[in-house]
Amino acid sequence: MRKPLIAGNWKMYKTPKESLAFLNEFLPLVRDHAAHDITLFPTMSSLGYVIEAVKGTNVSAGAQTMHWLNEGPYTGQTSPTMLASISCTHVMLGHSERRIYANETDDMVNWKLKAALAHNLIPIVCVGESQEKRQSGLTEAVLNWQIACALNGIRPEHAGPIVIAYEPIWAIGTGSVATPDQVSEAHAIIRREVAVRLGKHSAERMRILYGGSVKPENIAKLMVEPEIDGVLVGGASLDPHSFAQLIHNSV
Ligand code: 13P
Repeated sequence: MRKPLIAGNWKMYKTPKESLAFLNEFLPLVRDHAAHDITLFPTMSSLGYVIEAVKGTNVSAGAQTMHWLNEGPYTGQTSPTMLASISCTHVMLGHSERRIYANETDDMVNWKLKAALAHNLIPIVCVGESQEKRQSGLTEAVLNWQIACALNGIRPEHAGPIVIAYEPIWAIGTGSVATPDQVSEAHAIIRREVAVRLGKHSAERMRILYGGSVKPENIAKLMVEPEIDGVLVGGASLDPHSFAQLIHNSV
């Protein structure tokens, strides 16, 4: 059984003070919610505060990115050791905004994935095609390639914690949510490729999330699909009431 995960990616929003104000309202609204794992991804400057504030609750917190090395002369970077040292439990890898604006490559995603597993961080590996690739009929090729690269050299016995997030670039921040059929089809492609790389058992256990314009109004239609094991939410995770509503609507 795959326990669904609902994650909020705060991108470059919220100061520490705003993050804590969010939690003051949000935590009581979801306190009794046990049907899904709930994880927030604040900015690096808020992460330590959020981790402290969610301790002992049913909400966890993770980093939006990290470097793959433990330390070194890499200005602006944060290492897996540093995240583990502040009791960070999750890390997002290869988000399309990182791939586009920070030149994160498939190789880097693979190195980061290995580093995350070595430090007991739960990695959420983001994949997804652009509008142009979809229109050219290349969705399957892109997803297979991204998954094959990310999982290169990963052993099945270490793959348990890995989560994949399918985030088609054309659906992110656009209001154009992918249809449940489109998402199920993409998730099936991803799960097939995971099975090729890691075996059927790992593929059946792996949680595959969808991200891209998920809102309280469209979450229910997505979550009824057996292939969809949760969602990664951007804009609709910024308001505590809207995000709590989205979580309640997904049962
Ligand atoms: P939106 O929910 O704002 O479309 O963002 C999706 C996303 O990028 C989550 O990582």
